Amino acid sequence: MLSEFSFGNEQQLYRLISNLIVNAIQATPLQGKVSVSLEISDRRYVLIHVQDTGVGIAKQHQNRIFDRFYRVSEDRSRTSGGSGLGLAIAQAIANAYKGSIQLQSQPGCGSVFTVRLPLQR
Ligand code: ADP
Repeated sequence: MLSEFSFGNEQQLYRLISNLIVNAIQATPLQGKVSVSLEISDRRYVLIHVQDTGVGIAKQHQNRIFDRFYRVSEDRSRTSGGSGLGLAIAQAIANAYKGSIQLQSQPGCGSVFTVRLPLQR
């Protein structure tokens, strides 16, 4: 069904989703879980959920993590040293497709990043 609708630059869309998946893996301890799912909403949007059971993100950081170079200082990710650009790039790509990224997160429980992209025939 997707092939009926899908448009877009494969490399950009790969970068968008892979940035979210890499973050999810880095934020999640070894026994945790990262899952990715895709659904079509209303035959007009694709929703891609990248969910983890990692450290989560406190409310006060949730808007700021999309800023360039912003990193949560008490970040307990397994590997650090990221540039703080991954989410800014992901959001710029989503915006270029007239889409958005929504975040739901609870510290200590995990996060869900939902990418919403419009489908065009
Ligand atoms: P980077 O990963 O290079 O630090 P990003 O822009 O991708 O930069 O992410 C910014 C910050 O947001 C990260 O440093 C991390 O603290 C936080 N973050 C991103 N994704 C997650 C996640 N899934 N769980 C917890 N924190 C996250």
